[in-house]
Amino acid sequence: MSPEGLSKPEYQVPQEMQNQVALTTLDRLYNWSRKNSVWPMMFGLACCAIEMIAAAASRYDLARFGMEVMRPSPRQSDVMLVSGTVTKKMIPQIVRLYNQMPEPKYVIAMGACATSGGPFKEGYNVVAGVDKFIPVDVYIPGCPPTPQALLHGLMTLQKKIEGQSLKEVSWYQKGPGEPIPVPVLGPDLIDMRKAAVIRENSQPVADA
Ligand code: SF4
Repeated sequence: MSPEGLSKPEYQVPQEMQNQVALTTLDRLYNWSRKNSVWPMMFGLACCAIEMIAAAASRYDLARFGMEVMRPSPRQSDVMLVSGTVTKKMIPQIVRLYNQMPEPKYVIAMGACATSGGPFKEGYNVVAGVDKFIPVDVYIPGCPPTPQALLHGLMTLQKKIEGQSLKEVSWYQKGPGEPIPVPVLGPDLIDMRKAAVIRENSQPVADA
């Protein structure tokens, strides 16, 4: 990073020292290193994944952003790229993988399917957006989005990381973060966060 990019503009460094000295904040230094080493998890769900693979190849070159190290394990991943149709059969696995990622962690919904169900919205087997179960940081429109659109989404995520503060983000607060309850696939998908409501509504009605 150039000294101009690292320094806080409100702290003036004398002209003759500007090539040797930079005054900055811990947030800015920490976020600068994090945003340039965001490792994506290596998994794809449907056709959008082909565009994600293209973005990782030499023409678009994710290495420019420090993001080329696609990890085969959620334990080593910083960002989950949800690239494709999120089916009811797949969402329990997605939530489990999300829970297994260490914090700080981010999610990008790539394409119309991951964002809202896309062309399959309200299909019997499709979740109408991955954000129904896990928090999404960046949405990328398109069916499919181009590799350029994915790059734009990744740069948008970098901007978001840049703006975060160690004092405010949830994962640096005291106490462990709660995992998201993994949904259960039975005859239909059961969201375990609504288990109490489901149980209440499924009580047999007493005869009058
Ligand atoms: S958004 Fe379009 S290209 Fe992407 S997974 Fe859905 S149908 Fe395929």
